[in-house]
Amino acid sequence: MTAVEEWDEGPFQPEAITVRVPAKINLSLSVGPLRPDGYHELVTVFHAVSLYDEVVARSARGIALSVEPLRRDSDVDAVPADERNLAWQAATLLAERCGVEPNVRLTIRKDIPVAGGMAGGSADAAATLVACDALWGTGLRRDELHDLAAQLGSDVPFALHGGTAIGTGRGEHISPVLASTGLEWVIAVLDAGLSTPKIFEACDARRRRSGEQAPAPGVHPDLMAALRSRDIGAIGAALYNDLQPAAVEVLPQIGELLALGVAAGACGSLVSGSGPTTVFLVDSPLAAANVEAELRASGRCRAVRRARGPVPGANVVNVR
Ligand code: ATP
Repeated sequence: MTAVEEWDEGPFQPEAITVRVPAKINLSLSVGPLRPDGYHELVTVFHAVSLYDEVVARSARGIALSVEPLRRDSDVDAVPADERNLAWQAATLLAERCGVEPNVRLTIRKDIPVAGGMAGGSADAAATLVACDALWGTGLRRDELHDLAAQLGSDVPFALHGGTAIGTGRGEHISPVLASTGLEWVIAVLDAGLSTPKIFEACDARRRRSGEQAPAPGVHPDLMAALRSRDIGAIGAALYNDLQPAAVEVLPQIGELLALGVAAGACGSLVSGSGPTTVFLVDSPLAAANVEAELRASGRCRAVRRARGPVPGANVVNVR
């Protein structure tokens, strides 16, 4: 007779939770008129792509954080490892909200290019909410995590959500978009900084010069129809960003990169958000290889990566 092992009925206390979280690009960005408070109303289509950071949350006394590269060439130098890090702020906020001690050692393994407009910091904050919620057993519902995410920053709720979604307000109101096909991208991060306020100012100045009245922001129906179809060419043609002309004016290299990618076979190209990241939609592995090779050869990019989308938002991938 074999002995039957006793099943421990006590609560499972995980030691370490690993959460994987994707970067985002913007398939469209519609910028409304300048408001009296100095902000613009925005409507964007977020798209989560398969470039990931991982956040590992381990039991500890007090809060500690470290940042390491996930790949050999991931660059983490500019990322603070203290309370300035959005992940640290996320852990503190969750602990306050749930009335628990913020006892956690966070390790951020970065692969999302830093300061590339791909919302890497926001992604880490979203991943930390999910990881600490599981580690501490605080058991918040997704909508409760979403509320905390919105307090941390306008891109954080989408990092929880993933997929393809329309973002309104400051980006924190998310409605999913039905996209019927997977998309392949080549993503290039320009080796030059682009100040977001400067791009918005340049956009306003262009509109003043041309006497153009900015319409209320929205999502173009062509993009919605293209995303529902399986027509990659139509999707490529429907990508748009109201900030792109201003970004190209401020940094002409962006225009050169966009043209280079299309000449190499991309079916669509776009400045993502306020840049300096440019994204190229491709319809075959050959086109992807050609576009990637041309962008690398330009010597203007600090990162050129391939990715597919849409992918899910922050989710637990390992529990120990
Ligand atoms: P934004 O969301 O402002 O558009 P971004 O997506 O361009 O930012 P991030 O990679 O989020 O770029 O980094 C922007 C800055 O935020 C970094 O230079 C860094 O100082 C700070 N930061 C704070 N926390 C993090 C984090 N966890 N990962 C990366 N950067 C962080």
